[in-house]
Amino acid sequence: MNDVPESHPRYVSLKLRDTIVAGVESGVTSIHGLMAHGRGEAFDYLIGEQTQPFAMDAIRAGAATLLLAEHPVISVNGNVAALTPGELVAFSNVLKAPLEVNIFHASKAREQAIQEHLKKHGAVHVLMPTTEAQLSFIDSNRKFVHPEGIFHADVVFVPLEDGDRCEALQKMGKTVVTVDLNPMSRTAKQAGVTIVDNVVRALPLLIQEMQRLQKASPIVLREIGSQYSNDKILQAAVQWICRER
Ligand code: ATP
Ligand code: MG
Repeated sequence: MNDVPESHPRYVSLKLRDTIVAGVESGVTSIHGLMAHGRGEAFDYLIGEQTQPFAMDAIRAGAATLLLAEHPVISVNGNVAALTPGELVAFSNVLKAPLEVNIFHASKAREQAIQEHLKKHGAVHVLMPTTEAQLSFIDSNRKFVHPEGIFHADVVFVPLEDGDRCEALQKMGKTVVTVDLNPMSRTAKQAGVTIVDNVVRALPLLIQEMQRLQKASPIVLREIGSQYSNDKILQAAVQWICRER
């Protein structure tokens, strides 16, 4: 994207588009991931391409939920790996939680490419899907998980999640913290905490918030969780999208 000046009003959005295209070209992102990204772009446009207060509230609750978890796990798909590889590694280090590759469109080569991409950005160990452990209530490739990762987790961070798997994770008693620009998606509605924001903005803020809350007592963290209502947050996001312009 050499010919777009930084002053272009769509500069950041166009750069992100380039990043996701590069992800497809290097085998990290599925071609279908472009469509998911396009849907995200449309919602980001409506949201104003800035982190809104409803996202900040969810980031706070998400950080508290993840800090209280006994076995938190970070699920990584091809879009997130392409957009925020360094942030995922930093997040995994701060939370002391493993990264686990989990993709919708089955491809061993792509799973491998994601793992290598994360390692290039500093990940030491990346959990991979196995046939030994499978999620119940789901038929797609995403049911294959790692026995010590998502299968064992009590809280799963799954940005850009598919509604089906979010529901399956919840039915298995796991809490889901997600990032999804569409407050009307099934994922957004199913999750325990939905951060309605672009993952490229949300992840650095989530890391910051986690660092800030790291020394907080479990009582304080539980209080943050108990005051949080995901339904209200989603309502606020929809109202913001439908605001008069
Ligand atoms: P669901 O199955 O939950 O109803 P869906 O089928 O509409 O959702 P998927 O294709 O399964 O959506 O997942 C993509 C989701 O990720 C979309 O809701 C899209 O808005 C969102 N998304 C795409 N790119 C980003 C991004 N960069 N940051 C945050 N969310 C994003
Ligand atoms: Mg879906």
